[in-house]
Amino acid sequence: MHTEALAAFRDNYIWLIRPEADDPRTLVVDPGDAAPVIDALEREGRELRGILVTHHHSDHVGGIAELLRWQAGRQPGTQVPVWGPAAEHIPGRTHALQHGDVFSPQGWTQRFAVIAVPGHTLGHIAYFVTSPEPDTPPALFCGDTLFSAGCGRLFEGSPAQMLDSLNKLSQLPENTTVNCAHEYTLSNLQFARAADPSNTWVVAHQARCLALRAQGLPTLPSSIGLEKSINPFLRTAQPGVVQALERHRGHKPEDAVQALAWLREWKNNFKG
Ligand code: ZN
Ligand code: FE
Repeated sequence: MHTEALAAFRDNYIWLIRPEADDPRTLVVDPGDAAPVIDALEREGRELRGILVTHHHSDHVGGIAELLRWQAGRQPGTQVPVWGPAAEHIPGRTHALQHGDVFSPQGWTQRFAVIAVPGHTLGHIAYFVTSPEPDTPPALFCGDTLFSAGCGRLFEGSPAQMLDSLNKLSQLPENTTVNCAHEYTLSNLQFARAADPSNTWVVAHQARCLALRAQGLPTLPSSIGLEKSINPFLRTAQPGVVQALERHRGHKPEDAVQALAWLREWKNNFKG
């Protein structure tokens, strides 16, 4: 499987997925804007074969209608599938997905498994994609739930829901690629320096990501293994994170849920 990040808006990534690098059949994840997707498809002579959506926010669904119109103009009478969470309003959705659903787009050998990850929004889902070829790592498309070194804001869900969602994702194989919907890594790493100050992986990864961004390159995909070593939101049980929270709040968090809630609040107000 071949994945590619298209930059959109200020800091969004729209992921394009193809079965192989030389295959024109393309799936698009969270097309908040149609223009960069249409540009890429036309420039490379690709075919739109489906749209995958993680949650209802406009920077993830705003381009769906225009993409479908463009597709209908190219191949009249065809309708590409639009997969999205059953619990949210997704424009043009043809396949309403729930936790545990598994599907393969027509003609694809890859298997797409749906994981419910409420927190950022209540119906938010992630796609965990596995290939039959033994050497291909699995790929996770997690929208605004897990970011590199961070997590999404809690607009609709509770800290307990987000903790549970992040726990599910951290149990995926360590070589799973993490394809997030925003380039927030540098500001997240700055926060991770404060929230997990003794973590030398954070320092090393910050240097790598600064070099990537200086060249205009994405810091993504990350991997589950890397996130487990650098992401404070996956490390709420680590002594270094607990101690930093204790210094920040004046006493220890009662449990992992409170630790996550405090981390999220601290990050919301963090100025770097
Ligand atoms: Zn969002
Ligand atoms: Fe977003």
